[in-house]
Amino acid sequence: MDSVLLDVRGLNISFSGTGRDVRVVRDLSLQLKKGECLGLVGESGCGKTVTGLAVAGALKYPECKVEGSIRFLSDRYNKAPHNIKRKRIAMVYQEGMAALNPVLTVKKQMTELIRFHCRLSSGDALVRARQLLQRVGFNDVDDILRRFPGELSGGMAQRVCLAMALCCEPEILIADEPTTALDTINSAIVMKALAVLKKEMDLAVILISHDLAAVAQSCDRLLVMYMGKVVEEGSTWELLSTPLHPYSRRLIETFFALEEGRHDIEPIRGQVPGYHELPMGCAFYPRCEEASENCSIYEPELLKISENRKVACHLYSGRNKGAL
Ligand code: SF4
Repeated sequence: MDSVLLDVRGLNISFSGTGRDVRVVRDLSLQLKKGECLGLVGESGCGKTVTGLAVAGALKYPECKVEGSIRFLSDRYNKAPHNIKRKRIAMVYQEGMAALNPVLTVKKQMTELIRFHCRLSSGDALVRARQLLQRVGFNDVDDILRRFPGELSGGMAQRVCLAMALCCEPEILIADEPTTALDTINSAIVMKALAVLKKEMDLAVILISHDLAAVAQSCDRLLVMYMGKVVEEGSTWELLSTPLHPYSRRLIETFFALEEGRHDIEPIRGQVPGYHELPMGCAFYPRCEEASENCSIYEPELLKISENRKVACHLYSGRNKGAL
């Protein structure tokens, strides 16, 4: 698990649909190693999904500007053209059911996809579809192939999507909130399927989630995002047990209090600002209980504070002066 497979540097993503540029991901860098599971966590709208889409090469709209470098460093495909490399990065989305065509059987959807991407005959595509469904834990694969999406549970639909995402033998899988729309049992089945695939295929996974319990079980490392920026990075255990950034602390406290059924915890004060009205200095400043005057002036950089730990906060940058 030591070679870097994905190297993202200085990623900036902006949308210009409203006539002005709105930057929704700001100077994001990440590395993903072979076989590693990296979690992207944070509130809805913090830039997690759009980061995943940019890495998967799925942000191809004229209104969308993606800047920075996204390098796929597979040994096997180093000299391959960009479009071949891109096939080694697959993505599964939040709602499996919505990603499937409701009027086509699973067999039709899977075999067409496999024929298109892998240039196989109908017969070979069907054999491959059966193998892929087995890989995600289905036993009676012919029964699944015969069904229309409406005849699948949410968890089954998500596993079918997972099987389809594997058709090009990806080396990186981006799973965007794969369990958000599922009940506890189906969530557990999907997360188990993901864990088995990661191990069997030596897949590197980016797990985008606001479910900290799921990331605690699955991820080796976490990036916490707030308003399009990484505010903290560290190993999962260290970050969840001793969060350093005030936002990470409140996010983790609130999540686990609610998991335990406790409602005695104050929500983070204020609201997430719009991207077009970001405050000067630290974006978390209007909501932060530990802010000092400098926080409203200087934007904190993501600083390395130990071997595996980075944080973007003036409490650790030496600029925490002039308490408010
Ligand atoms: Fe709070 Fe200041 Fe740290 Fe931002 S930089 S999180 S405002 S203490």
